[in-house]
Amino acid sequence: MLRSATAIKSLAARKSATSLYSTTSSRGMKILAILYDGGKAAEQEPRLLGTTENKLGLSDWLKSMGHEYVVSSDKEGPDSVFQKEIADAEIVITTPFHPGYLTRDIMEKAKNLKLCVTAGVGSDHIDLNAAVENKIQVLEVTGSNVTSVAEHVVMSILLLVRNFTPAHEMIERGDWKVSDIARNAFDLEGKVIGTIGAGRIGYRVLQRLVPFDPKELLYFDYNPLPEKAAKEIKARRVEDLKEFVSQCDVVTVNTPLHEGTMGLVNEELLKHFKKGSWLVNTARGAICDKDAVAAALKNGPLNGYAGDVWNVQPAPKDHIWRTMKNPLGGGNGMVPHYSGTTLDAQARYANGVRSILENYFGDKPQEPVNIIVGKSGYETKAYGQRGSEKAKHGFSSS
Ligand code: NAD
Repeated sequence: MLRSATAIKSLAARKSATSLYSTTSSRGMKILAILYDGGKAAEQEPRLLGTTENKLGLSDWLKSMGHEYVVSSDKEGPDSVFQKEIADAEIVITTPFHPGYLTRDIMEKAKNLKLCVTAGVGSDHIDLNAAVENKIQVLEVTGSNVTSVAEHVVMSILLLVRNFTPAHEMIERGDWKVSDIARNAFDLEGKVIGTIGAGRIGYRVLQRLVPFDPKELLYFDYNPLPEKAAKEIKARRVEDLKEFVSQCDVVTVNTPLHEGTMGLVNEELLKHFKKGSWLVNTARGAICDKDAVAAALKNGPLNGYAGDVWNVQPAPKDHIWRTMKNPLGGGNGMVPHYSGTTLDAQARYANGVRSILENYFGDKPQEPVNIIVGKSGYETKAYGQRGSEKAKHGFSSS
């Protein structure tokens, strides 16, 4: 693949940084990475950087500086590599696609732990309150895969609204019954589309939908969009969540998972969705109640549900979201968690992890946008309004 001039420049800069750190960083650190196994695919495709085989492309660099770099996918239970090796690790890197869960209990045992890096976006696998109390910094590679996810959301909205999957399955079966598909196929034009969470991904989704000529674009977020940004895409904020969902033909979920969003889309809220509406969730599985969603697809009001995130990952073989359908046999756009791990995204988040490590080794300030928990505590506005009254009660969903 051709490398851009910027990529070549950044590689050159990294090379000189490597020699700098190999001479100045005398203190060998233990760095633990929990990644997913890529198997044959990772051997054949070196750009699958987020795998245990390709180790985020950091192995030679870290070893050249005398650091110990332990990489594994084994993360469950007290005898796992994760729980054993974390005991004396200074840095833990993990990816949302196969996260090592940093609970309070594990953090308290990890006496040497100072930095948790999320290779991607979404640090809900880390107990952020415990990180603050234990003075452990939490950083993620903010923005690294937001376009990848936004594109996936737009694709998922289209495949649900246009009833794509049953149409393709029909073709594979050798059948041809246009009316069976067309009876539940619509245009996106003229629909009301709304995002719960209008941050980097949510805003990009709305931006990308403008050319489809929707009737209206709505958003629900405790952080209002800057006036200019909202005006540019003619997005209207709705402050009451029930009111918001009752106006949308399509709802997309784009918030982090935290105390205020866990189970936010539940049986009660689903009662307020429009009859025949579609729901797309690429944020985190646990934001939507598993059984309530399946029931709403079977009995209404949902006509379709799509996404790539699950309440348990990997999803068990009998997880109801794998096979749930609407009464016409369609409406399921579920895939494994991959929207934010395209090869383009992997290059960006691997590069971003390296920059975070360079800053840490060189005792340089981190990019403010990457800091979830910094040296002086909780620093983002995205994982709930912590410390305020709203945080204690969860963000109002009424
Ligand atoms: P962001 O921080 O830019 O935006 C998140 C927005 O959600 C913020 O505007 C915040 O105010 C809002 N928010 C938080 N709690 C809310 C609540 N209770 N109600 C309404 N709004 C709320 O984050 P982003 O880059 O857009 O990413 C969002 C999430 O998407 C991530 O945290 C992650 O969980 C998920 N994600 C998934 C993938 C994937 O591969 N499927 C990849 C990247 C990110």
